[in-house]
Amino acid sequence: MVKATYERVRRLPGVGKLVERLAQNFSLDYVQSVRQQLDKISPTMCAAKWLQSTVHLEIGETHSCHHPGRHKIPLEELKVYPGALHDTRRKKNERKKMLAGERPEECGYCWKIEDLPGSPLSDRHYKSAEDWARPFVEKLGAMSGDEDVDPTYLELSFSSNCQLRCSYCDPSVSSALRAEIKKFGPYPTADAFGTLVADHDGGVFTEAFWDWWPQVRSKLKVFRLTGGEPLLEEDTFRVMETFLKDPSPDLKFSVNSNLMVSDERFTRFTSLLEQLMKKKAVKEMQVFASIDTWGEQAEWIRHGLKVKVFSKNLEELLRDHPQVPVTLMITFNALSPFRFKELLDYVLWCRQTYPRATLKIGIALLHNPSFMCLDVLPKSYSQQLEDILAHHRANSMVTRGRSGFTVAEIAKFERILAWWKERPTATERWKDLRVFVNEYDRRKGTSFEKAFPGFLENLQ
Ligand code: SF4
Repeated sequence: MVKATYERVRRLPGVGKLVERLAQNFSLDYVQSVRQQLDKISPTMCAAKWLQSTVHLEIGETHSCHHPGRHKIPLEELKVYPGALHDTRRKKNERKKMLAGERPEECGYCWKIEDLPGSPLSDRHYKSAEDWARPFVEKLGAMSGDEDVDPTYLELSFSSNCQLRCSYCDPSVSSALRAEIKKFGPYPTADAFGTLVADHDGGVFTEAFWDWWPQVRSKLKVFRLTGGEPLLEEDTFRVMETFLKDPSPDLKFSVNSNLMVSDERFTRFTSLLEQLMKKKAVKEMQVFASIDTWGEQAEWIRHGLKVKVFSKNLEELLRDHPQVPVTLMITFNALSPFRFKELLDYVLWCRQTYPRATLKIGIALLHNPSFMCLDVLPKSYSQQLEDILAHHRANSMVTRGRSGFTVAEIAKFERILAWWKERPTATERWKDLRVFVNEYDRRKGTSFEKAFPGFLENLQ
C-alpha cells in the first residue's frame, strides 16, 4: 500500500524528476546518459578504475575503487615513480580489460548488480557520473590502459592507529585489532579470519606520498582521509593546517571517523574544521561517520562504539557546524537488519531537529568476512528486510519533505534487497558464523545472545 502510494506520487508529471534532483547532485536520467557514454567505450568501462584510489600508506596497499580487495604496491614500481602508490601495474592490467570489454573479476560487486533482472544501474555508472569522473570519461576511453593517470578522488590512510575492534575489520587497518590477534591468534574459522600478514615498512610509502603530493594535489577534486581512525592521527591535523596555510578552494575534503575520540581531540578537529570553512580554504568539508545499525547491536558489531558518545558528537557537528555535510557510513551486514529502522528513525529525527544541516546515508554491502555477509540470513527474515524498505518509502521526501529519504537512498536499499532475494542462502557459512561469534564474545567479554537474542537458534 505504502509502496503503491509512493510510486503513484513519484510518477505524477514532473514529481519524479524533481524528487531525484532534490535527492542527489544528478538525476537518474543523467546517470543513464553516463551509462550510454560508457557503453560507447565498452560494456565494462568504469572511470573509477583510473580516477578513484584508496591508498594505505602504513601497509603499502591500494585499490580502485574501494570495492575490490586491496593489493600490494610493488616496491620496485615505487622506486621508479612515487605515483605507483596508485598507478600499479595490476590496476593498469584491469583497466586494459575494461577497455577491451572484459569484466575484471575484482569488480564482482558491480557485475552482480548488473546481472540482476533489468540490469540495474551499478556503482560503475554512479561513480562515473560524479563530477570527479564524468569530465574525463571520453579521454580515458581513448587511452591504452598503460598510462599513469593521477586520481581525482583520493582516499588516504596515513596509519592503522585505531581504538576500535570491529567484528568485520581487518587487523592490517586497526592497531587495536592487531594487538588482539597478536594475543589470541586468528579466529578459528575455516579461513582463519584475522590472520596477520607481515608488517610493512610504512615509512617507504609515506615518503613516496609526500614526493607525489605536490603533483597529485592539484588534480584532486576529492581528498578523503581514512584510517585506522584519522582523528587519532597527527598527520590528519597536519593536512588540515596545510590547507589553512595554502588553500585548495576547488577541493572537497573529507574525513572518515568512528566519532569515538576524546572530547579534546574532537574539539581540536571541529575547531580546525571551522577555520577551514571560514577561510574558504577548501570548497567543501565533509565527515563520514561509521555505524551499521542501532543500540546494543551496533555496539556489538563495532566493538568500542558507544552509541551515546557517537550521537553526541554527531549532533554537535549537525548543530554547531551545519555547513559541513555528514554521511553515515553503513556497512550493511547480516546483523544490521534487526534494529535498522531505529537508525533510520534517528536519521529522520536529526534531519528534522537540525534543518540547516545535511545528514546523508551511505550504505555499502559487507562481503568480507563472508560469514557476516547478508546472504547468510535465511529467507525467513524476508519480512524484516521488506519492512526496512517499506519504512524508507513511507518516510520518503514525497511524504516528509526535505527530511525524508531521497530517491537515491531508497533505490540503494531496493538494490540491496533485490540482491539478497536473488542469492541462495549461504547455509554453509553458518558454522563459521557461530564459531566466530563465540570466540568474539570470549575475547571481548561481550554477549552475542544478549544483543541478538535467539538469532543463532534461527540458523537451522
Ligand atoms: S567495483 Fe564497480 S565501481 Fe568499483 S572500479 Fe569496479 S566496476 Fe568500478
